[in-house]
Amino acid sequence: MTEATSDVFDLIGIGFGPSNLALAIALQERGHNMRAAFLEARPQFAWHPDMMIAGSDMQVSFMKDLVSLRNPRSAYSFVSYLHDKGRLSRFINRKTFFPSREEFNDYLGWVAAQLPVCHYDSRVTAIDPVGRGDHITELAVTSESSNGQSRIYRTRSLVLAPGGQPHWPEIFRPVQGTSQVIHAQDYLSATTARIKPGMRVAVIGGGQSAAEIFTDLAQRPQIAGVQLILRGRALMPSDDTPFVNEVFDPGQTEIFHAKPEADRQRMLQNLAATNYAVVDGDLIEQIYEMLYEQDVRGEDRLLLTAETQIQAVAATDQSVTLNMTGPQGAVAADFDLVILATGYRRDLDDAMLKSLTPWRKGPPDRNYRLPMADHFEPAIFVQGFSEATHGLSDTLLSVLPFRSEEIALALEAFHNRHMNAVAAE
Ligand SMILES: Cc1cc2nc3c(=O)[nH]c(=O)nc-3n(C[C@H](O)[C@H](O)[C@H](O)COP(=O)(O)OP(=O)(O)OC[C@H]3O[C@@H](n4cnc5c(N)ncnc54)[C@H](O)[C@@H]3O)c2cc1C
Repeated sequence: MTEATSDVFDLIGIGFGPSNLALAIALQERGHNMRAAFLEARPQFAWHPDMMIAGSDMQVSFMKDLVSLRNPRSAYSFVSYLHDKGRLSRFINRKTFFPSREEFNDYLGWVAAQLPVCHYDSRVTAIDPVGRGDHITELAVTSESSNGQSRIYRTRSLVLAPGGQPHWPEIFRPVQGTSQVIHAQDYLSATTARIKPGMRVAVIGGGQSAAEIFTDLAQRPQIAGVQLILRGRALMPSDDTPFVNEVFDPGQTEIFHAKPEADRQRMLQNLAATNYAVVDGDLIEQIYEMLYEQDVRGEDRLLLTAETQIQAVAATDQSVTLNMTGPQGAVAADFDLVILATGYRRDLDDAMLKSLTPWRKGPPDRNYRLPMADHFEPAIFVQGFSEATHGLSDTLLSVLPFRSEEIALALEAFHNRHMNAVAAE
C-alpha cells in the first residue's frame, strides 16, 4: 500500500547518520520554521553497527563532535552527553581525547533521541520530479518500510546524506550475494551467524577496518586460521601528526575549494595517508606483536600476506577459493569466509538521483547545493559527496559542525525566498 502526504514539506533529509544529525542540530539551534523530516532506513539510530568491534576507538577527538567546534555551549556536545550520563569526571580521569566507538555511537544515539524529526524504517527508494513539462516545482520522495509499506513525501528541498556504498572490487562481483563472501559493512552480524569451529577466514584490504577485523578474528579461538591479504608493501600508519592534521581544520574547506582542480587533486593524493588504506600506529604494533608471539609458539594460525593480488575467485556452497599472486608466486587457498574490507564508494549517480539526471549540471557548489537546469526549483543539497571539491574531511566527522550550518543557512535563504514569493502572489 502506498500512502502519500497531502502537505508539502519544506525539507526532507535522507539518512539520519552523523551528517544529517548535525544538520538537525544546526536547524534547531537556529530556531528554524521549516516543516522538516528525516527518513532513515534503519529501524532505530545506529552508527556503523556491524563495525562496533570491542576495543575499537574513535579516530577523531571527542571535541570534534557534531557541534562543539561551531557552538561549544551547545546542549548536544559530547561533554553535555557525558555530563548527562554522569561520566564527565571519570571520562576526564582516563586522560584521552579518543572515546571508544561504542561510546561515540551512544552519544550519537543520545542526540538522535532528543531530535524527534526522524522517521525510522523508511528506506528511500526513489526521488522523482513533480511539475509541468520542464518546470519542476517539487520532489516526490518515496520511502519503503521493512513490511513493504511505501509512503510518498512531497518536498521543496532535499538534503541527501546516505553515506557510502560498500565497494566490491570487480573480481569479487560474481560472488556478491553469497554468504561466504561479505563486506566489512556487515562484519559482526554476518560473521557471528557463520562462525564455526575450525573455520578459515581471509580478510582482504590494508586499511583500518581490515586491521581491526583481522585482530578481532585473531582473538576468537574457534577460528582455525585468519589470513590478512593486502596489495601494499606493508600495513601503513595513518598520519595524524599535528601539522598534517590541520588539513581537517574548519577553515581549510574554503582554502581547498578556491584552488584550481589540478591543485586539489594533488592535495588529495598527497594527504591520502591521513585516511585511506592506512592503520592506526598502535594497532599496527599490536598486530606485529601477535604475529611475533605466535612465531615464538611455533604456530601459524595468523598470516599476513602483503604485495598480493587476487587473480580469481570461485565459490561453492561450502568454501571460496582465492587464486593469488604475490612474493611466493601463484598460490591458491580455500577459505570458509572471505571478508572484504575494501572501503566505500560515494557516487551520487548511484545514490537515488538517477531520475533527476536530465536537470543536473555538475558537482555541488560551495554550499553543497547541486546546480540544476533553469526551471528546476527544488533545492538539493548533499553531504559527504564533495571530497573532490571540498577536501578530505568531507566524508569524515570533523567537518560536520560547519558544513551543517552552511547548509542550514542556505536552506533558510531558499525557504525565505519561497515564503516571500508566496506572500507576493
Ligand atoms: C567503521 C567506521 C569507522 C569510522 N570512524 C570514523 C572516525 O573515527 N572519525 C571520522 O571522522 N570518521 C569515521 N568514519 C567515517 C564515516 O563516514 C563518518 O564517521 C560518518 O559515518 C559519516 O556520516 P554520514 O551521516 O554522512 O554517513 P553514515 O554514517 O553512513 O550515515 C548514513 C545513513 O543514511 C542511511 N541511509 C542510507 N541509504 C538510505 C536510504 N536510501 N534511505 C534512508 N536512509 C538511508 C544509513 O542507514 C545511515 O544511517 C568511520 C567510518 C566507518 C565505516
